[in-house]
Order: sequence, then C-alpha cells, then structure tokens
Amino acid sequence: MKPQVEIYDTTLRDGSQGEGVNFSVADKLRIAEKLDAFGVHYIEGGWPGSNPKDIEFFSEARKKKFKNAQLAAFGSTRKKGVPVEQDDQVRLLIEAGTPVVTIFGKTSMLHVKEVLRCTPEENLAMIGDTVHFLKDHGKYVIYDAEHCFDGYKLDPEYAVATWQAAEKAGADIIVLCDTNGGCLPGEIAEITKTAIGKLNCRVGIHTHDDIGLGVANALAALEAGAMQVQGTINGYGERTGNCNLTSVIPCLALKLKKTSVPDKSLPKLKELSQFVDEIANLRHNPRQPWVGSSAFAHKGGAHVNAVQKVSASYEHIDPALVGNYRTVLVSDLSGRSNIVMKAQELGFKLAGDTPELKTILHRVKELENQGLEFEAAEASLALLIDRTLRHRELPFRVDAYHVSMRRNGKDFVCEATVKVIVGGKSAHTVAEGDGPVNALDAALRLGLMKFFPQLQNVTLTDYKVRILDSTTGTAAKTRVLIQSTDGRREWGTVGVSENIIEASLQALVDSMEFALLKK
Ligand SMILES: [Zn+2]
Repeated sequence: MKPQVEIYDTTLRDGSQGEGVNFSVADKLRIAEKLDAFGVHYIEGGWPGSNPKDIEFFSEARKKKFKNAQLAAFGSTRKKGVPVEQDDQVRLLIEAGTPVVTIFGKTSMLHVKEVLRCTPEENLAMIGDTVHFLKDHGKYVIYDAEHCFDGYKLDPEYAVATWQAAEKAGADIIVLCDTNGGCLPGEIAEITKTAIGKLNCRVGIHTHDDIGLGVANALAALEAGAMQVQGTINGYGERTGNCNLTSVIPCLALKLKKTSVPDKSLPKLKELSQFVDEIANLRHNPRQPWVGSSAFAHKGGAHVNAVQKVSASYEHIDPALVGNYRTVLVSDLSGRSNIVMKAQELGFKLAGDTPELKTILHRVKELENQGLEFEAAEASLALLIDRTLRHRELPFRVDAYHVSMRRNGKDFVCEATVKVIVGGKSAHTVAEGDGPVNALDAALRLGLMKFFPQLQNVTLTDYKVRILDSTTGTAAKTRVLIQSTDGRREWGTVGVSENIIEASLQALVDSMEFALLKK
C-alpha cells in the first residue's frame, strides 16, 4: 500500500554539510543500508557534480540491492547559457545511474537577479530544459524549489511560474524548500496550500531549523496536503540543521496518524538515531526529542511516583513505541524486551522466559555502564548472546601481548608480539606496523592464521576512536569501534578501556571470533 507521506532522507547529502559531520564512502554505504532496512522511501546519496567521493558512492551503491528505498542523485539545473546536453554537472547526474534525480532551481526573483544574474525567462528555461532532459533519460524527477517561501513572499507570480515550468517539463513532484529556515508554520501552511491549488503534480516539503521550527514547519506543510517530507536523521545539516526526521516520523505515526515508514520500524527509531551518530562519531544528544536517553527520564520524586502508578500521567507516549525506555524505573521489563527483539533480529532463539536472558541482560547493562555501545557493533552483541546461550568455550585466547614504538630520526617503528592459545597449543608471533594498533592487528592475525587459515580473508575496513569522559583527563575511557569484512559480509565490533591499545585489542579479538562463528 502506498504511504500517505513519503520519507525522503538527505542525511548523506544535506546532512553531511553539517559542521563536524564527515562521512567516508564506506560510512555512507552503511547508513544507506540501514535507512533502507528501516523503510525510508528515498535516499539522497550525494551530489556527483560537487565531489568525487559522491561519484564513488554512487558507483558502489549501484552494486547493492535496496529493498525499500530508491536512491536519488542530487544536483542543480543547467548553467545559464549552456545547452543542457553539454552541461557536465547534469551529465554526472545521469551517470550516477540512480532511478531518481533531484534537482534544485531558483524560485526567488532576488536570487535570479542578484545571485544567478540572468533574466527571469532564462531561469525558467533552465528549469524546464533540465527537467525535460532528465525525463527523456527515464528518470523520476524531484524538483526542489529553492527559497520557495521567501521567493513567493517577494514575487508570488514569478514563484508560481517557476513551479509551473518544472511541472510542464514533466517533474514528478515539486518540493517547496524553506532554504533559509526562517519561515513560520502559518505562512508555510498557507503557501503550501496555494502551491497545491496551482499544481497538478504532487507537492513535498524541505525545511531547515534556523529558528527551531524545522519539524513544525514540515508538519504544517504535511497537514496542508504535502505528501513528501525531506529531512535528515538527528537533524544533521548546515547551520542549525535540517528538519529532523527522527522527530517527523513518530509525529506522523503517533500524532497525525498518517502512514509513512512501516509500523514495525517505529520501535527501531532510537537505534537508527544512535547508529547514525555512531557512524558520524558524534555523541548522542540525551535531550533529543523522542529518542534521547533523557526523553523519558524521570527525576522528580512526584513524577516517578505518578509514572509508576500510571505511566500516562507524565509521559506523552509509551517510550517503547519508538524503542526508547523510561530511565528511573531501571525498567528490567522494557530492557528485557529490547534485548529479546534485538537477539531475534540477529537470528537467536531467545524469548522472554529463556533462563539465560537474565545473565545476558545483566552483562549488557554492565558493559553499557562501562561505555560500550552496541548500536554500531552488533557483532560484539551477537558474540555476547551466543557465548551465554550456548555456554561455549572461546575459540582462542590472547594470553599475552606487547606493543612497542621507537623513533629513529624521522622514522617511527611499531612492533607487536602476541601469544595466542588455541586448544592446548600456543603460537607466539611478532609483526611490525605503521602504528601500534596496526602492528597488534598484524601480529594477532598472523598467530591465529596458523590455526584458522580462513581468517586470511578478514580485513579491517574502518577504525574509530572516541574518548568517553573527557573531564577526567588521562583516566578517560576510550571506545574503539572497528568494522571488518571477509568479502561477503561486514560486521562491527567494539572495545572499551582506559588504554587505547587494550580497547583496540578487545575489538580486534571480537572481530576475529565473529569471523569464526558463522561459516
Ligand atoms: Zn536543504
């Protein structure tokens, strides 16, 4: 069934323009897969005309199969004075090979005259030519009307003419953009209604959060009849950010009662939000509406008491609906259901009455207290569950290791020795590397390969470090997140310690153990 509102995610494009957000191609692919599994309808992967990284992303993404989402490439209308078929930026949009192409064009006379510096007619031709060209190449075309609301307020007649130019050329949907993020919900609703009245094609909304109204403005447009919303996970984006989909999605489902992503995805919202923060290497914001760790945390005695009696007394929804939980009650019950849900997703047979559940839950809480987070390290969680459920022995043990570093003039030399024990046998290996972790990884791998030759195919694809509590200076804990692959599947593991080498070793050991776990 068609959803009432389509979710168009631009975390990988508009979101990556946010300060402190920087995604590698591998990061983008992981996020795209997660968004697809969650059930968003469109994933805007990047702007191929603006950087080579995005071209690489699209060539990699083409090899993947997405179940729910359509991939979109983003770009602009053709340049002034250049025939569309000779415009390099437009050519790259076709070459991205996506089913959907989103282009933005100018709505505002101010921008046409002062920024673009062309005639109003030439701008209309740029919009029409580009949409037409993309339609001729079989694309589903989304037209983003930049500065749509400000432009309409300045010169309504011309704004309407730009939308109609896109529509006439065959645009499938016209998305009204509050590019500067300074409009109010009332005017957004009114102008959206006007646009819907003037256009026969469908209308969408793209807002920014410059005055704290990104989500409110998007909802105002959706209530006025828009049927697509563009935004980012956790509200990433330039300046104060884009419309936050992590708020829009539950507002649609639970407040406006409109369908968008599949119902079964809603309880995974908190996990999605944390996953994207982990990949961006950003601290999860505890005060984030719906999904923050404080969103349902009750401190005041009266609140706690009342919530214990009737949860609805101080909570606007049941936190479990969005995968969140109440924190004062140290809710074993909701903690339990979260773990059961996750374990089943990872392929384990675990139910609410499995005797080992208590041990698993206890161990997870203990590790989370130490700073482990499993959102981007599901392999470490899978190992923990598997070890407990099957009461199995570890396939190998690291008995001892040593890492050293020397500087000789300008050259660094890192060397690691590792002693691993498998069954009754041991192996002692030594390796060099560019850095201490690299040397440790090489030595561990060398030792294990004597017993498990299949580990030869396992490689490390990503390594991320975060200092967890920077206020305590050198005693701060370090969390290491690594991503590995054997060419067929990819998995993430995690380690935490006051010592970065030890944290890295934990993550490496988990990675190798996971590689051995499933054939
Ligand atoms: Zn934007």
